[in-house]
Amino acid sequence: MTDTDGLARLDTRVAGCRACPRLVEWREEVGRTKRAAFRDWSYWARPVPGFGPADASLLIIGLAPAAHGGNRTGRMFTGDRSGDVLYRALYDVGLANQPTSVAADDGLALHGVRITAPVHCAPPENKPTPEERNTCRPWLVQELRLLRPTLRAVVVLGAFGWQAALPAFAEAGWTVPRPRPVFAHGARVPLDGLDLFGCFHVSQRNTFTGKLTPQMLRDVLRTAAQAAGLPTKSG
Ligand code: SF4
Repeated sequence: MTDTDGLARLDTRVAGCRACPRLVEWREEVGRTKRAAFRDWSYWARPVPGFGPADASLLIIGLAPAAHGGNRTGRMFTGDRSGDVLYRALYDVGLANQPTSVAADDGLALHGVRITAPVHCAPPENKPTPEERNTCRPWLVQELRLLRPTLRAVVVLGAFGWQAALPAFAEAGWTVPRPRPVFAHGARVPLDGLDLFGCFHVSQRNTFTGKLTPQMLRDVLRTAAQAAGLPTKSG
């Protein structure tokens, strides 16, 4: 059964977490100093909870919020170039009600999809330490448990997310194949009754260089959505 209240409570608790001293310092420092283009913003400067409905059948797992994206707006992948690419693709395949994601109150809604991250605070240089990743894992484990009743497929963006997600799946009680599946773009792995997909991360490093094209992203999202039983648009 979907535990909407449980997920909302989890999101509130995540947003109040201060367990990683380096990340607390960094996220708040960024919120004080700001980027010139966003000087009129009041930065969120806290952990960014997952975004999307509690009865999602498809979960997308990224890496961590961006300093001037999620850490500014308070919503996953919102307000940065990575999010522009991801939400455009979600809209194009029929999983979002609009192609843009600029602020937490912009009216964006996802259809059957939730987006989260193994690390909920923006890290310096987008690089959390292994210790920070491990410290944040219990939040992902709890989210996985709450989502599991309706979940049918998971897309993990990038090798870091993949390495962080597999132990979380195991801690959530899911049966993870041995040897552990290896990350690859386009990988599709059966995992405890779900379908697990790998996709290059939507970082600028990948999208600007063409390592990940909009078509490649749409293809993975559409295949995963179909595995999750969600209606999709072609194109
Ligand atoms: S990264 Fe995770 S565990 Fe660390 S402070 Fe942020 S929310 Fe808490």
